[in-house]
Amino acid sequence: MAADPDLSRLADLIARSRRAVVFTGAGISTESGIPDFRSPGGIWTRYKPIDFAEFLASEAARREAWRRKFATDPTMREAKPNRGHRAVAALVARGTAAAVITQNIDGLHQASGVPETRVIELHGNTTYAHCLDCGTRYEIEDLRIAFAKDETPPLCDDCGGYVKTATISFGQAMPEQAMRRAEMETLAADLFLVLGSSLVVYPAAGFPELAKRNGAHLVIVNREPTGLDEIADLVLNRAIGETLGAAVGVD
Ligand SMILES: [Zn+2]
Repeated sequence: MAADPDLSRLADLIARSRRAVVFTGAGISTESGIPDFRSPGGIWTRYKPIDFAEFLASEAARREAWRRKFATDPTMREAKPNRGHRAVAALVARGTAAAVITQNIDGLHQASGVPETRVIELHGNTTYAHCLDCGTRYEIEDLRIAFAKDETPPLCDDCGGYVKTATISFGQAMPEQAMRRAEMETLAADLFLVLGSSLVVYPAAGFPELAKRNGAHLVIVNREPTGLDEIADLVLNRAIGETLGAAVGVD
């Protein structure tokens, strides 16, 4: 690693950290074949997103939301954690990282072995659904089978409320508990490691700024420049899996 000073620096910052926080965005999951929905050509640039108010107001919007969900679901289901996810899981298992804050909705951190309690999902999770009124959980596969019959958008068996994927839609309030936990972990961190986020979506992008202001080292690994490169201690415009995998010693 002596020949690669940036990688040495990353390994050194990780080795010296007593309490790190990992913050992940779409870039870590594109390495697992999950498209970045916000990127050019991504699904949200081809279809107008269905915002939360529309979902609540219109059965047609709910039907369309579920059509899109089931159309994109095979890609999501086939995706497996990659080397980047495994390296993050190793940091958690070794006690270096206390939490993983993620903008991703794919559940791949949990699939890579990070305990559920260590993952803070800012945008929710698309691998299951829940009733918007009473919170009852529903499995996507059961909903898919029922929807295939006549495309009726699902209603809650218990209370009749609308069932929606457990994601945060445009126009939907950020999840309060997740935001609070993310802030607490950010303030407790001495190293804040951003992986695959362009840090343009607020309030999520406020966490690395907060960490840096609070005295933590800020490291950004992202293919493209980000809005916070200037305040970061180390910026690596590289692939996440091979970079973090090498720094952490995980294949
Ligand atoms: Zn319900």
